[in-house]
This record gives sequence, structure tokens and C-alpha cells, in this order.
Amino acid sequence: MRDVVIIGSGCAGLSAAIYTARANMEPLVISGSQPGGQLITTTDVENYPGFEEGINGYELTEIMRKQAARFGAEYLGESVVEVDFSESLLSMITDGDQRIDAKSVIIATGASARYLGLESEQKLMGKGVSACATCDGAFYRDVPVCVVGGGDSAMEEALFLTRFASKVTIIHRRDELRASPIMADRAKDNDKIEFLWDSVVTEVLDVEKGKVEGARVKNVKTGDEHVLPIEGFFLGIGHTPNTKPFKGVLGMDEKGYLLAENTRTEIPGVFAAGDVQDSVYRQAVTAAGSGCMAALEAERYLASKE
Ligand code: NAP
Repeated sequence: MRDVVIIGSGCAGLSAAIYTARANMEPLVISGSQPGGQLITTTDVENYPGFEEGINGYELTEIMRKQAARFGAEYLGESVVEVDFSESLLSMITDGDQRIDAKSVIIATGASARYLGLESEQKLMGKGVSACATCDGAFYRDVPVCVVGGGDSAMEEALFLTRFASKVTIIHRRDELRASPIMADRAKDNDKIEFLWDSVVTEVLDVEKGKVEGARVKNVKTGDEHVLPIEGFFLGIGHTPNTKPFKGVLGMDEKGYLLAENTRTEIPGVFAAGDVQDSVYRQAVTAAGSGCMAALEAERYLASKE
């Protein structure tokens, strides 16, 4: 029986781990399928306070992980697949078939990259299709690639890919970007980046089979279709919250984000922190802040029980 279990090990989970560990709550962090969370798929984090020159995303989470471990946080490299929060004893089942019981739980499972849902896209996953430019960009040296999306993620991916690719085409379904002006301007000012406006991808092509060679693109205003020759197909169309194990257990909004007030969910002792409950800000620093809030709430909850 644990005082506190933290599900997820991104910025929110690790910040909660630092705070609960320093409060002698001996947290167990169930790290999940992507330890470190979304930050490990980022190169330079330039807007996390305290790092004048920026810091590599992987390095930042690694420091947080060690920082929490120094105060006694433990890590379990598994994922939670099922929960039972119907009793005051909160139970979790992992993909390693372990049952873990806790007096309080902090859910910090974050969000995952979204895909278009095309059959051809799924078939070519890892063979030219990727939702992580930082992870896979270096495989596309001196070849043309594309990025789908018009938000900050798409701009960031496209800018990163210009380090390697010969040309980066941003395919956006509207004629106006959703990205912040600074990111949009950086992308527009980059000579290697071109935009295909009012366009959607209808198929990812692999003429030689097993390797991306193009994307069939349709102009939504004119209906015209053409094939864009590319070897890397990157997605930058947002994220979906990782809330599957909590469906029917905890309240969610229409997009599946957990409902929480100051990190408190409707179940006493169950808290939610970071992107899993935040569809608006979704920043490393806000995730870290809400991880801290959840830790303080859990501490207060346990104190009130005792
Ligand atoms: P986002 O802002 O929701 O943008 C998603 C983009 O993908 C939109 O342009 C959307 O088009 C497009 N899209 C969504 N579904 C699509 C589909 N099925 N087919 C084609 N296009 C589709 O998501 P995000 O870019 O991941 O950003 C999320 C949050 O993180 C934002 O608050 C952002 O500011 C922040 N962020 C910040 C940075 C940074 O500052 N460095 C980096 C990354 C993310 P529409 O515009 O037509 O809806």
C-alpha cells in the first residue's frame, strides 16, 4: 500500500514526484510507455524558466527524474491499463499484471500525437511516416519531406526538419495558420519551407512498396489533386489525452481530457496534473506547475485522512 502513486513520468508526473518525495511520501512513479513524456521528443526547450540558453528536452526530464529519485521516488517501467477507484483503497493494474494499491493517486499520463487515420499512413508508420521530427528527422538528409498541420507543433517540426531535409512542405487544410505569430513568421521566413494551403492528404504513397515516396494532396477549394514527391511524412496535428484506463471512472470533457478543479478530480484522493487535464496551455512549465499543485493537494488529502 503506497501513500501516493504517480501515473506518468513527463514534466507533470516528475514534478509531482519531486514534491511528494520531498514530503516523505515515498512516491511510486509508474513511468508509462514513453518515460519522460512529450519533452523527450523535443530538441531545444527555450521557454522553460531557468535555462538562459535553453535545454535539450531529454536532458531536462532526466534531471527531473534524478532529482525526484534523490529524495526517494521509485520508478516502475510499466503502464497502467485498468483502475478501480470505487473504494477508498485506490487500485491500479499494470501491463505487467501487477496490482498496486494506494491511498492517493496523481494521474499525469499526458497526451499523444494524433494521426490522420489513413490506411496508407498506418501501413507506412516507421517507414517514412512519423509524428516526431525530433526523433526521426535525421533519417531524412537531403530529401524532400512534408509536415501536416498549421499549429505551433507543425511549425516547430518543419523548422527542425530544415536542418536535414532538402525541402519541407507544410500542408495545411486552411489558408490561415493556427500557430503563434513568432513561430509562423519563423517558418514563413525559412527558405527551405513551402506552404500548400487549403490542402489535405488523401493518401501516403509507396510506389516501391514499404517506403514513403509521395503524398496525394487535394485542394479542398478546387478539388484538384496532385502528388507531392516526399520521402518523409510528418504529422503535426495536435494530440489526444491518454485517458483510456479512466473511461467510465472519471469525468472527461468532449475531447477526453480529465475534468479537475485545481487538480482535484471528482474522486477523493485522485488528482490529475499536466496535459491529461489541460487542453489549453499544454506547456512544460504549466505541466510542472500543475504537478506541484497535485502533489500539495495529495499531501493535504492524506493529512486530512490521518
Ligand atoms: P493545435 O494548436 O491544436 O494545432 C493543430 C493543427 O493541426 C491545426 O492547424 C489544425 O488545423 C491541424 N489539424 C488538426 N486535425 C487535423 C486533421 N485531421 N487534418 C489536417 N489538419 C489537422 O496543436 P499543436 O500545434 O500541437 O499545439 C498545441 C498547443 O501546444 C498550442 O497551445 C501550442 O501553442 C503549444 N505548442 C507550443 C510550441 C512552442 O511554443 N514552441 C510548440 C508546440 C506546441 P486547423 O487550424 O484548421 O484547426
